Amino acid sequence: MNLYNIKHNEEQVSFAQAVRQGLGKDQGLFFPEIIPTLANIEELLALPLVERSQKILTALIGEEISEEQLNKMVKNAFTFPAPVKQVENGVYALELFHGPTLAFKDFGGRFMAQALATVRGDGKITILTATSGDTGAAVAHAFYGLENIDVVILYPQGKISPLQEKLFCTLGGNIRTVAIKGDFDACQALVKQAFDDVELREAIGLNSANSINISRLLAQVCYYFEAAAQLSSQERENLVISVPSGNFGNLTAGLIAKSLGLPIKRFIASTNVNDTVPRYLATGNWDPNATIATLSNAMDVSRPNNWPRVEELFKRNQWKLTDLHSSSVTDAETEETLVEMNNKGYLCEPHGAVAYRVLKQDLQQGETGLFLCTAHPAKFKESVERILNLELPLPEALAKHAELPLLSDVMENDFNQLRSYLLK
Ligand SMILES: *Cc1c(COP(=O)(O)O)cnc(C)c1O
Repeated sequence: MNLYNIKHNEEQVSFAQAVRQGLGKDQGLFFPEIIPTLANIEELLALPLVERSQKILTALIGEEISEEQLNKMVKNAFTFPAPVKQVENGVYALELFHGPTLAFKDFGGRFMAQALATVRGDGKITILTATSGDTGAAVAHAFYGLENIDVVILYPQGKISPLQEKLFCTLGGNIRTVAIKGDFDACQALVKQAFDDVELREAIGLNSANSINISRLLAQVCYYFEAAAQLSSQERENLVISVPSGNFGNLTAGLIAKSLGLPIKRFIASTNVNDTVPRYLATGNWDPNATIATLSNAMDVSRPNNWPRVEELFKRNQWKLTDLHSSSVTDAETEETLVEMNNKGYLCEPHGAVAYRVLKQDLQQGETGLFLCTAHPAKFKESVERILNLELPLPEALAKHAELPLLSDVMENDFNQLRSYLLK
């Protein structure tokens, strides 16, 4: 698999290099040179998740990794299902939260860990990533205990749910977590600065593991096929998918699935009030505001770092950006929607509710709607219990960590402090 840097097309790398490096020159994102068209979609859809995903990823990654190795990576990563549930007539939920950290980032995180363990050269590797909640947990669990790989996770202090924090800040071992006195964008900026620091990068073998790593996106492509596989062929004909979006990695993966030939009529990018993209699509002006804290906090991102890949996909496929519908949802509307969904018999959490609401606003007669449920309701226990006035049992994956002490370090939003911490 060959990839190029979107900012500097002359920089070309293999899959292994892209996985190890994360980002290219000038923080440019890597993008596959070729996305093949799969001829046998119906046959693929008839296969079970792991087997189908092995075929999809082989088609994307090619001969660079042996089929045997790739099959093993997929099998180790995809150890849990992604069921589709009907919410009402013509509207379905794709539940992506049945992994070990109860969020969709388990798919990308676990495959990324497998990929890196496969393509790593010699020498030290340090995974540095910023999280607004779920990436951190998924990355920590995916890499926990892997030999010669250190993990450092930055997150905005006090801006993620206490349970989310417990899930990944209690592991210890090769996982270090740092609460930064700032918002998610500040954490993300620190990570970018670290990657720009060549000396630091080489000293500790820096590697990113957030949604910018291409291996994560490739893994996420697979669950769009899994969703389609669970619908009837008639429902697949006019399929509209609403993606709750923060950094837009999830949407990028969906667009790659469409590019591979999966029949998806169109996508909807749903956001909370951090609405840089819906405003951009409406006005043509890229004008990020300061990040606002919301109920759907994993989408509190005002400078979505995967956006250049979204534009690249539209450009390369000659799709029209106007076909990408996008809208934002306030917290009040999210609460209202959660109640509405619960009355229909579907228990959701804020991110899924944002996607459901925009889907319902946008869906036309004769279309089948699917929205992505990116987290287990219990991961947002406090909000969900308050809004729906009920008590949620704690799933075992969370209960195990709730009792353990937090092991995080606290740090100012200051790159020099982070630098010495990393070199320590
Ligand atoms: C990360 C996350 C999102 C946003 O996904 P992106 O790929 O960053 O757009 C949505 N919901 C939840 C629960 C998340 O953790």
